[in-house]
Amino acid sequence: MREFLVAGNWKMNGSSVACAELVDGILEGMPLSDSVKLIICPPYLYLDKLAHKLTETSLSLGAQNVSQYGSGAYTGEISPQMLRDIGCEYVVVGHSERRAMMAESNEIVASKFKAALSEGLKPILCVGETLQEREANQTESVIDEQLNTVLDVAGVEAFETAVIAYEPIWAIGTGRTASPEQAQYVHSHIRVTISSRNKQIASAIQVLYGGSVKGDNAAGLFRMADIDGGLIGGASLKAADFLAIAAAAMSLF
Ligand code: PEP
Repeated sequence: MREFLVAGNWKMNGSSVACAELVDGILEGMPLSDSVKLIICPPYLYLDKLAHKLTETSLSLGAQNVSQYGSGAYTGEISPQMLRDIGCEYVVVGHSERRAMMAESNEIVASKFKAALSEGLKPILCVGETLQEREANQTESVIDEQLNTVLDVAGVEAFETAVIAYEPIWAIGTGRTASPEQAQYVHSHIRVTISSRNKQIASAIQVLYGGSVKGDNAAGLFRMADIDGGLIGGASLKAADFLAIAAAAMSLF
């Protein structure tokens, strides 16, 4: 069985004090597990301060975004090297909110993915379809286009140290989650797409599900054969809710 990941995407929420309290709450209630790894992705501004709290804990740190550029005149951007420098291990790339609101194309996402890897960060690559695309039976083709752009730019070997998150856009922040069967179908399809380039990498890669995961629906999703944990938005903002999802993952081992 692949190691599970439960990653919290805090988005643009909290304050210096609130984020520190959230970390404390997670650390206090976090059971030790060799099978389930917990990751938090706080806002950029608090990463450095929170990184210090995580030393000598098993809670990992991720960022929510990264520049595709190494350094230079890119006002307001943060480079992969800067994220490594302050102790980040993971970075979310291609979140649907950035694709939609910051006009991040598949090509930009692929450059960010490649840049992150080149500095030793592990990208969590988000893919997912809109409701309209699902209803038009385009789910697989949309996901394939998102994945294949990254595979073409970075190469399949790059996926040896990457994570994929399937996040149907219609399930993000809506309270409407994909059924375990709907999610499993797409997760399995993602493995098939990667497998056409490299079978071993396809079977080893961690594919997370994201979209209104809560303590009471997590176990049903996580039980599916190709789901290896979750990317959690709203329910990662309270330690008890996040830990309930982590407990659902741990109960499977
Ligand atoms: C997300 O934004 O990555 C997400 C999964 O959000 P939520 O859990 O709130 O649907």
